[in-house]
Amino acid sequence: MCCVDVFDSGGINVGVGRKNILFDPHRKNKGSDFVFVSHGHLDHANVNSEGKYLMSAETAQVVKARLGKEPGSVQLVDTSTRLKVDDSTTMRFFDAGHILGSFQAMVENSTSVLYTGDFKLQESVLFGRAETPSADVLVMETTFATPGCSFPDRNEVYSEMESWIKTNLAHDRNVILGGYALGKSQELTRIASDCLGGDAVVVHPQVAGLNRIYEDFGVKLGNFIDSSGPEARKYCKSGPFVGVVPSTILGKGLKQGIRIDTKRKTVAAVASGWARFSNYLKRFGAERGFVLSDHCDFNQLLEFVEEVNPRKVFTHHGNSAVFAKEIRQRFGIEASEIPKKVLGS
Ligand SMILES: [Zn+2]
Repeated sequence: MCCVDVFDSGGINVGVGRKNILFDPHRKNKGSDFVFVSHGHLDHANVNSEGKYLMSAETAQVVKARLGKEPGSVQLVDTSTRLKVDDSTTMRFFDAGHILGSFQAMVENSTSVLYTGDFKLQESVLFGRAETPSADVLVMETTFATPGCSFPDRNEVYSEMESWIKTNLAHDRNVILGGYALGKSQELTRIASDCLGGDAVVVHPQVAGLNRIYEDFGVKLGNFIDSSGPEARKYCKSGPFVGVVPSTILGKGLKQGIRIDTKRKTVAAVASGWARFSNYLKRFGAERGFVLSDHCDFNQLLEFVEEVNPRKVFTHHGNSAVFAKEIRQRFGIEASEIPKKVLGS
């Protein structure tokens, strides 16, 4: 296998041949040939660096909307792109199934290296599962790599949500659903819209802006209105409604405010992979939690490794050391968490 240098220094660095590529940076670029941004969540999308950025058109749009700026040099890529890095090295891109425009990247020299930012294998109401191309070296995200971490069937969660929403509306209660503004809130909008069968879902302005980007790229979210728009206040007073907000603003104050405004009891739920922990609900003052994750659970992470079938694995995020040990023991594959390196200034 050709020499591949993988290390973490303010982002994941992969050196193949004479080229260095920086993945999902959270520091200034220091001489990498290319900078790949896997998706628009801000812990993966520092665009303050110099250099040539690679990202999907969807991610570029999301980054611009969230940060109000773009990096100086962006090359848009998609799953048909075959990027020539140098005479002997190319890059290709694969669907990550995480959020709108989320990609994995493969660097191919005499050795192939697959990098994943966040990814998931469960199909959702919006997106399919991550692709699993074969690679010699796999650099993978392991956010939920704790043994025993298991996510329920997504369609069962959707059914539970629908039932919970309909029951509360039937009892004349407003329903507020909270999740990450980017990714989860769009899925919640679609779930609520399907549940309401044509009536509008009322969404926070931050969610509305991101919803529009999803729809611009052809992802249908159903009928929704911006809560800051002129018709929303009257609409919310006319009868029990379903709202979608970023979980960061979910809390007692929000529910009480809506209750006073609409003179109607208001209940809240939070949707996240972290909702499997009861203290997560308390943090947001939510009555219900729905375990709906855009990552893989423990077994899905193992399934991903099996399908990619690498000879070497590097893990990052979450319980990365524990998962690397699991890979070594279970598959007999060389595996370790990504070593950290301080680059010279
Ligand atoms: Zn993410």
